[in-house]
This record gives sequence, structure tokens and C-alpha cells, in this order.
Amino acid sequence: MDEILTMLSVDEATEIVLAQTMVMGTERVAITDTLGKVLAENIIARREHPPWNNSAMDGYAVRWHDIQSVNEGTPAILPIVDEVAAGGLPKQALAAGEAVSIMTGAPLPENADTVVRVEDTTLEGDHVVIIKAPNKGANIRPRGEDIQVGQSVISAGRRVRPAELGMLATAGHVWAQIYQQPRVSVLATGNELADPGDDLGSEKIINSNAFSVSGLVRECGAKPVMLQTAGDDREALTVKVLEASAADIAIVVGGVSVGKYDYVKDVLKELGCEMHFWRVKMRPGHPVAFGILKGRAGHRPTLLFGLPGNPVSCMVAFYQFVYPTLRKMQGLQSLHLTQVEAELLEDIRQRPGRRHFARALTNYDYDAGSYKAKLSGPLGSGILTSMVQANSLLVLSEEHSDFKTGERVPVQILPDAVFEN
Ligand code: AMP
Ligand code: MG
Repeated sequence: MDEILTMLSVDEATEIVLAQTMVMGTERVAITDTLGKVLAENIIARREHPPWNNSAMDGYAVRWHDIQSVNEGTPAILPIVDEVAAGGLPKQALAAGEAVSIMTGAPLPENADTVVRVEDTTLEGDHVVIIKAPNKGANIRPRGEDIQVGQSVISAGRRVRPAELGMLATAGHVWAQIYQQPRVSVLATGNELADPGDDLGSEKIINSNAFSVSGLVRECGAKPVMLQTAGDDREALTVKVLEASAADIAIVVGGVSVGKYDYVKDVLKELGCEMHFWRVKMRPGHPVAFGILKGRAGHRPTLLFGLPGNPVSCMVAFYQFVYPTLRKMQGLQSLHLTQVEAELLEDIRQRPGRRHFARALTNYDYDAGSYKAKLSGPLGSGILTSMVQANSLLVLSEEHSDFKTGERVPVQILPDAVFEN
């Protein structure tokens, strides 16, 4: 049998894809443009934070020695000699027996070792009466408590979330080195496809995959380029695949099966695409192709994925193969969907031989102390509602056919999963 037609397991196919995947180049961008991108450098703090000892409360900076009597029942009455607000500096060091009115975040005067909360004081003219004394050193945020100069604050390979964005700024960075976003062309194929808003003939369906796949690409942090649909026509398909090959990754959706008008295989052969597989032992998403398109001179090779046209198969196949590829290209360390183990809430039967990714609703059962999962809808590969209702994919082993209620199975958690509890 043609080697290409020998069906690979999901794990073998994944290994092949990842072995061909190169990490993207890097670029320097303003930190405001880093959100959602992956850092290509370890971020070292150029500034310490906070830059000086400062007050964690609105109150009075004092020397603890001067307020000890409060704990023995005698309020301390101290003259207020200065006021420091955030953005200001103390005028002088604190002398024995003095207090300085101080706001949250303001630098502490020299010699002050404690801040008394304003709630624990009253005012008597230009004196403060301290009613309750905190412990020595209370309400002070020491200089450098968060970060110190030279400290590594974010590691390379981390995707920038709002917290990292704030840290880049705090640590004194204006620019950061990030991995370039892969560009992914999305080409839907099929004579039956029409765009939303088109005047639909009765023979047409809406090209939903172009939307879900572009969304998946974006969800991975990459840039989709949605191409115009190609009909089931060799020449049109050839032109479109060449156009798609200008990107880092080309995704062709539909037409990769064995139907009479599934021309993708022929066209890729003609274009000299080096195919690694056409089918994988999985369900849904069995007709799924991967190859390398050498492209024109001067162009770097494009990874080409052929995903099945059925809307659920297409998404499931994307999560198994394109998702880890895009993550690796962006320099991320963890490549796959987060996996947990869940107890089945229902019996599931299947034909063995292919790994089944069943759309599921998984929730954490606090009483049982475990995840529990049930199917999110009918199993048909065209039933997009099952995907809309799902927060996860059950990974049902190719080696079994009968899964019983209460059995524990691996579950892939989808990005942005919503849990019911
Ligand atoms: P194919 O993989 O081309 O054999 O298509 C399999 C099934 O998926 C058929 O029912 C198609 O009509 C449907 N299909 C193919 N492409 C799309 C698409 N872009 N959007 C929605 N459904 C599609
Ligand atoms: Mg088709």
C-alpha cells in the first residue's frame, strides 16, 4: 500500500507535524503591542520596585519607640511636622517624638519605622493622637520588595497577559523582543459554499469553517488570512493553493477526502507538495492531511494542513494538529490543550480502531473531588451545536469500545472553557 495511505495514529501524526515545525523569527516591538504575543527574551528588571520604602496606608509615619506607651493605655500625642503625598518627597528626616502625615504610596521619611493607620488616630490641632499602636514596622512596603534591579521577572516563552504587560512597564522596559505571529491562510473549498449575506441558492450552505478556523487561528495568537472560497475545480484550486502558500501555514478546508470532486490531493501532488499523511486514525477528523509546500524561490516552505470539511471534524482536527504547531512556532513550551481526567456521567459505545474526540461538558464536582463529564450533544461530525455547547473533548482510546459510567478518561479542556460550577 502507498505509504502515504497507511493510517497513522494521532500520536504518530502529531510527532511528524511537530518535527517539521520551526519556531518563528523574533522582532522588537513597543510593549503596548506585546499583549497576546510570546516573549523571546528573559525580561530583566532595570528598575527596582518600589523604589523607596513607602507607606501602605493613609496615616502617620512615626518612630515606633515614640508610640509604645499606647499599648500600656496612654495615648501618644505627637506634633505633625510634615505631610507627604504620593508623588512628593519628605522634607526632612523624622526626629524623635515627631509624626509625619503620609498617604498611601508616598516615600517614608528617614528614621520612620512604622505607619499608624489614620483610622487609629484623632487630630488635636496640629498634633496627632495615636489611640492604637500597630506592631513595629507595620504598614510599610520596603524598597525593592516586589522587584530588584537585575532580577529576572518574566521568562522567555511566556505569552504576555495583562500581568506581564504591567510587569514589563514596572521593570523599566519600553520595547520587548517577541516571536513573530505566524500568518495562516485559510482556504475553504467546495461548490456548495456561500458567504453569510450572499443570496443563497437552494443548493448552497454557508461557509462556516472559514469563520471557525479563522477564529481558531486567532485564538492561538496567530494571524488568519481568509482567502476567497475555491470551487471544486482543479485549476481554481491550484491558483488558490499557490496563493495560500504565501503564508507560514496554509489550511485548506474540505475536499481532502476520497469523493469524486475532492481534488485537493491531485492539486497538491501537481504542485510538488511533500505529503506526510492523508488520514489519521481518529474520529471525527479522519481525512486530515499534512504536507510541506516548497513554494517559489526565496519563499520559506509552508506547512500545509488539509482539514475535513465537516464543521466539527475540522475544529477537532485543528485542535490536535494545528494548535500545537502554532504554539510551537510562537516559542511556547506547552503545546497541547490542557488535559485533566474526568469520570464519565454516561455510557459511551464506539467502534474501536480510532481515537475518538467526543465533544463534552466537563465540570468539577466539589463533593466528589473530581471532574465529571457528559456528552455535549449528538456525535455527528456536522453537528456544530455539540461544539458550541462543549467546553472540552473526551479522549476515548482507540483500543476500547465500551466506556462505562464512572470510568475515568482523559479530557482536553478547550480554551476559554466555561464551567457550570
Ligand atoms: P468535504 O470535506 O469537502 O467532503 O465536506 C464534508 C462536509 O462538510 C460536506 O457536507 C460539506 O458540505 C461540509 N463542508 C465543507 N466545507 C465546509 C465549510 N467551509 N463550511 C461548512 N461546511 C462545509
Ligand atoms: Mg467538498
